[in-house]
Amino acid sequence: MTESSRIRSTGPAATQVRPRTEGWTQKKDEAGRPLLQFASPKRGKPPVHLADLTPAERTEKVKELGLPGFRAKQLATHYFTHYTSDPAHMTDLPAAQRDELVAGMLPPLLTEVRRLETDRGDTIKFLWRLHDGALVESVLMRYPGRITLCVSSQAGCGMNCPFCATGQAGLTRNMSTAEIIEQIVRANRLIAEGGLGGKKSDDHSMERVSNIVFMGMGEPLANYKRVMDAVRIMVAPQPDGLGMSARGVTVSTVGLVPAIRKLADENIPVTFALSLHAPDDQLRDELIPVNSRWKVDEALDAAHEYYEKTGRRVSIEYALIKDMNDHAWRADLLAEKLNQRGRGWVHVNPIPLNPTPESVWTASTREVTNEFVRRLNEAGVPTTLRDTRGKEIDGACGQLVATTEDEAAAEAMA
Ligand code: SAH
Repeated sequence: MTESSRIRSTGPAATQVRPRTEGWTQKKDEAGRPLLQFASPKRGKPPVHLADLTPAERTEKVKELGLPGFRAKQLATHYFTHYTSDPAHMTDLPAAQRDELVAGMLPPLLTEVRRLETDRGDTIKFLWRLHDGALVESVLMRYPGRITLCVSSQAGCGMNCPFCATGQAGLTRNMSTAEIIEQIVRANRLIAEGGLGGKKSDDHSMERVSNIVFMGMGEPLANYKRVMDAVRIMVAPQPDGLGMSARGVTVSTVGLVPAIRKLADENIPVTFALSLHAPDDQLRDELIPVNSRWKVDEALDAAHEYYEKTGRRVSIEYALIKDMNDHAWRADLLAEKLNQRGRGWVHVNPIPLNPTPESVWTASTREVTNEFVRRLNEAGVPTTLRDTRGKEIDGACGQLVATTEDEAAAEAMA
């Protein structure tokens, strides 16, 4: 028996086992509290785009540009149903004003710096440069029966989680609504052109992204308004929006409790996911710096309220980190805390930890992972291991960070 497994079996009083080599220390503010950055640093705003505006505002803006209001709907159709911003494709618009209209309504927002794909071609990671040079990533994944896009909501992230590469890089700025939406439109364009492999059929023209997960860079609820405006555009019928199903949109949060409550009142039945990663405050304080503001029980209460208000079963995300949070007693404690709040309201989604630069942590072993899952299921909490994709292209959960190599590539293009 190894030392750690002996300790693991001795119950809640056992000391926390950490890898010997651990060298991580938490970034702290002047008052000694874990460093958190909620406000977005002020930077030049991205240009206003059709996807930042309501249908009525789009019509107004087109009129300001000297054209009749109905042209707004034509532009929206090109953008939201044909996934194009290229004036050459818009032959239904008057040739003389077309370029100016498109420049005013559909300004370029994302420049593709690099695209990495897995061998099978069914997972693609995009690196985008924003207008001010900030870099973000999105990951496109084909699964049987669905196509999922993992989108970014901020350039960087202010939540400082030690096991997440994005969190360690800090917050550059919030993304605009249109910058969030443009990630989907660009992915849809690529799919329509047959650029996402993994399927035998040759006709990709009708295929598009069916599921969105806000699990790329950023804390979506720290950029609440723009993220919610983007969600509204995702679910608005075409051509006002992308005509997607709200159930196919997952908002994942580190646990900003007041914003979770607000989300529950929006009346948009998105799927809600809470990144818990530890069932006890002692450990969560360390793993999730925002736990210094909102504790495990408060976050779980807010998640349960989300279920009560929307009827949507919520997801608990739990990255399994070797000897850090993967103890059997923690699985039992998690099950107990979830069952205390009711049955059938939640499922647990353990994620084997993905490696990040300079992190000393590694994924739990297969046996420990299986035991963790087994205990939760046995306690009546539906639990399924997440099939994480894109590790070989650094595109998996927690691995999205712009490297110096990415920056050099972006500069070379600018
Ligand atoms: N800010 C949001 C979205 C983050 S990414 C949130 O915290 O939920 C989506 C998920 O990946 C989160 O659950 C996050 O905690 C998890 N994650 C971060 N780093 C990871 C890593 N190295 N391995 C596995 N999962 C990770």
